[in-house]
Amino acid sequence: MQNLDIAKFGGTSVADYQAMNNCVQVVTANPNTKLVVVSACAGVTNLLVELASGACDSKQREEIIAKVFAIHKAIFDQLDDSDKHAAVINEYLGVVRDLAVQATMTRTDAITDRLVSHGELMSSYLITEIFKQKGFKATCFDVRQVMRTDSNYGQALPLVEVIAALTKQHLLPLLDSGDTIVVTQGFIGADSSGQTTTLGRGGSDYSAALLGESCHAKTISIWTDVPGVYTTDPRLVPNAKPIAELTYLEAAEMATFGAKILHPSTLVPAVRCGIPVFVGSSKEPEKGGTWVRPTTDYAPPFRAVALRKNQTLIVLSSPKMVGASGFLAQVFSIFAKYHLSVDLVSTSEVSIAITLDAGTQTSGLSSIPEALFHELREFCHVKVEHGLSLVAVVGNNMARSAHITDEVFSAIDEYAVRMICYGASSHNLCFLVGADEAVEVLGRLHHKLLEKE
Ligand code: ADP
Ligand code: ASP
Ligand code: MG
Repeated sequence: MQNLDIAKFGGTSVADYQAMNNCVQVVTANPNTKLVVVSACAGVTNLLVELASGACDSKQREEIIAKVFAIHKAIFDQLDDSDKHAAVINEYLGVVRDLAVQATMTRTDAITDRLVSHGELMSSYLITEIFKQKGFKATCFDVRQVMRTDSNYGQALPLVEVIAALTKQHLLPLLDSGDTIVVTQGFIGADSSGQTTTLGRGGSDYSAALLGESCHAKTISIWTDVPGVYTTDPRLVPNAKPIAELTYLEAAEMATFGAKILHPSTLVPAVRCGIPVFVGSSKEPEKGGTWVRPTTDYAPPFRAVALRKNQTLIVLSSPKMVGASGFLAQVFSIFAKYHLSVDLVSTSEVSIAITLDAGTQTSGLSSIPEALFHELREFCHVKVEHGLSLVAVVGNNMARSAHITDEVFSAIDEYAVRMICYGASSHNLCFLVGADEAVEVLGRLHHKLLEKE
């Protein structure tokens, strides 16, 4: 389909009947929006993750299932044929109950993924019914037919070439027919044996971008609860301002360093095929939003500040490091073995400091296994620190301009900075601070770097 727009709606955008109606209005206002990707209704994924933890007794289990049912009932009660919809939701929740019981016996990431996928399965079913009731032709498409991933449950990697081939076979013919709005699920996929997988928390943005790529979309629209990308999280810093235009690079840096508005991988497929990404509010579409494009007219030295919580700092030291070669390779090969992605790195004569983010798995469990520390301790001293947050200043030409570090650090000279990374990219300067001071640090930086006229 030519000029296809993909519209992705996050959890708050599909939280209830009114919110889903706003989505329908947004979609039907643009004749090019033919593919709709939805998250689970707000709060549902967290409830399902709790069920999948295996830690609930039967009373807690039934209470959670009742809460999940109530969220969906409040929506289908507004529709004709509510008995039919109740039966569909109850059938999904029957599977959820069985999986939750299984999880109490043996919790696995595969069971977690199957269980939590029901959030998106239920929301996509209900919003399709709303489209139909409003007189639009709509089809609910199971994204697992096309969203092929590896089997790394909880944080699966999409297999882009297979997704392209499957999309051509199963999804493009539906879109090319042009007469139906296709509604599908974000966040979930399937591996080659048909087992359900998930792309990690917040992964629906990534799903939309992957589908944008495989469907050769003209635009990808991420509809959320704020009218665009701001200079920092407006919930943390009330003076944050919306940004009209961002480059892919700037937006990717912001997402990587904690701007939750976009899942960190979202820009990867968009960059591969140069598709512009729009971010706006489904509740207030008239307020406009942010366009993320390959280039922008204006490239300020300071564009935004971001915060990523729950960072783990690991300091590895060994006298064997002095003048030795291969020590870093040895350390990184151990992290690679455990599929852990290292974020920041800083080295001194006898030590290496690195940071890890352990919290993006769907299960919500830490992805840092104890075995990693055992293995590291075999050849160096290991010190682990928690309770840290990563603050990032995102901008342009930062490592090539004078006064950057002075402007940044003079704003926060009352705070202890635990580690700094600067110079690898000209687009960011980031550092670790204590979690208890992080929001204050963010506010000070925002005030000094982004509020001046
Ligand atoms: P959705 O459910 O639609 O995916 P998210 O909660 O994942 O929405 O992301 C939207 C939230 O991201 C906003 O409510 C806001 O608190 C947060 N956020 C963090 N950084 C930024 C930023 N720079 N600009 C706008 N919102 C941000
Ligand atoms: N529902 C999933 C989550 O809450 C995916 C998403 O909303 O993007 O993480
Ligand atoms: Mg999100």
